[in-house]
Amino acid sequence: MNMKVKKIAIIGGGTAGWLAANHLAVELRAETDISITVIESPEIGIIGVGEGTVPHIRKSLMKFGIAEAELLATCDTTFKAGIKFVDWRAPTATSDTNFYYHPFASPYPSGVDVTALYLNSPATRSFSMVTGVPALAEAMRAPKLVSSPAYEGPVNYAYHFNAVKFGQLLANNAKSRLGVLTKDGAALHFDFYVDCSGFNSLILGKIFKVPFVDKSAQILTDTALAVQIPTEAAAELPPFTLAKAHAAGWLWDIPLTNRRGVGFVFSSAHMSGSSAVEGLSSYLGIDADKLAPRKIPMRIGYREQFWCKNAVSLGLAQGFVEPLEATSIFVTDFAAELFARNFSVDKDNMSVAANYCNKVMAYTWERVMDFVQLHYCISDRRDSAFWQQNTLETKRSDVLTERLAMWKFNPPKKSDFFSRFELFDVDNYLFVLYGMRYQTRAKNMTAYEQQYFEREIEKVKATGKKLSSELLQHREWLNEFLAAYRQTNRT
Ligand SMILES: Cc1cc2nc3c(=O)[nH]c(=O)nc-3n(C[C@H](O)[C@H](O)[C@H](O)COP(=O)(O)OP(=O)(O)OC[C@H]3O[C@@H](n4cnc5c(N)ncnc54)[C@H](O)[C@@H]3O)c2cc1C
Repeated sequence: MNMKVKKIAIIGGGTAGWLAANHLAVELRAETDISITVIESPEIGIIGVGEGTVPHIRKSLMKFGIAEAELLATCDTTFKAGIKFVDWRAPTATSDTNFYYHPFASPYPSGVDVTALYLNSPATRSFSMVTGVPALAEAMRAPKLVSSPAYEGPVNYAYHFNAVKFGQLLANNAKSRLGVLTKDGAALHFDFYVDCSGFNSLILGKIFKVPFVDKSAQILTDTALAVQIPTEAAAELPPFTLAKAHAAGWLWDIPLTNRRGVGFVFSSAHMSGSSAVEGLSSYLGIDADKLAPRKIPMRIGYREQFWCKNAVSLGLAQGFVEPLEATSIFVTDFAAELFARNFSVDKDNMSVAANYCNKVMAYTWERVMDFVQLHYCISDRRDSAFWQQNTLETKRSDVLTERLAMWKFNPPKKSDFFSRFELFDVDNYLFVLYGMRYQTRAKNMTAYEQQYFEREIEKVKATGKKLSSELLQHREWLNEFLAAYRQTNRT
């Protein structure tokens, strides 16, 4: 009996399948007698949503050897410097709209923890003082200079892109540069299977019947309505995802170079489908009968085992939490890399790696669920049954409950996050907690500390001002880039 894995099949050619193919092919480069085959179904398409990312994707693309210029030129790509959250808090006496940013930036200017200064400041001061990114985003600036090297820029960033075109880019790279094969669903035998079959979860779900850990008691949103709206070539291009809360969920607005992807996410227990279409229609200012949105049911939770016998699952086949904070491609990318790095071609080593990866992934998923739930559960909105249930009744994990209790008397610090497998950590929590004006008891500061912290904030302002004079408008940057790219690559 052959004790070595020689033939690996990846079932499914969506974003998850092709991310897995690239990670595996790169990590197994030294194994000359192993083949990786992606099995695509000609009849069943890919889900085709998933347009927002987080900065981690840059590392993976570099690792796969994909040029950033190609991503920018072929996938209607735009930059994302963070997320703008609108209306996640109750209106105040002075304003009926409110917003905050979760930028991809450090909340520690020059590495200094100035949270005590924020907690001692008057309510008019916002936590966004710790970084210049929100102001640059409001001014529609690109995060890169024209001269910035590939995958780098003075402002940290991720991308928005066309999910179908992004899948094709990953597929072309895996096939042409990394030797990955494709088949169209023929019944073949393989030594190992990577289940990337989307919500169908063909192997882990249907064949191995791995139980699904249902998280719908924590995250109430379960349906999305998605539409694509063409935009004018000269339209202003926000360098951020907009996440606007409504009475029973939120909606995303993702700008690509040629269109917006807009999605209305809601809890079907709190809002009817027709009210959701009306909500989407009123946001877009387009008649409901002209919209024809695509309705996507979402099952929130994850498979109890990530790796079972001779198969792992990735992407939607493994689990999903609604799209707030663009966690899905991030978790998939992380899990694909985790699997590829721990995979051994010796079948004898498989159960050790499987146990380890299963522990990591269960922990990772639990903390991702916490982070998404945080956005809802600390809100002061009580204007609908949805918000009342989220803030007063929904179940929370023990970890989130403990952390929120602790952060009432001490702000979050790096050491509160003691696992390397928390994909969202103190940086992300600080922006969301204090963007939502979570109440932490003010800490004492000495006069020296206060002066020191204020000087750091002045430096943030000065850097932001300098950058705003150097960075082009997002649209202008992309237009200049695309013109130069087409000139260079003219056939
Ligand atoms: C409403 C919504 C919004 C989202 N927004 C974001 C976002 O902004 N950012 C983000 O990171 N993620 C987002 N996601 C998640 C994102 O769409 C997925 O992570 C990503 O598309 C990966 O999907 P996948 O490859 O697992 O599945 P799919 O794209 O569904 O691919 C499944 C593959 O399996 C194949 N297949 C299925 N059944 C069979 C079968 N019986 N036989 C053979 N082949 C089969 C299909 O042909 C297809 O190739 C969103 C998801 C939803 C639902």
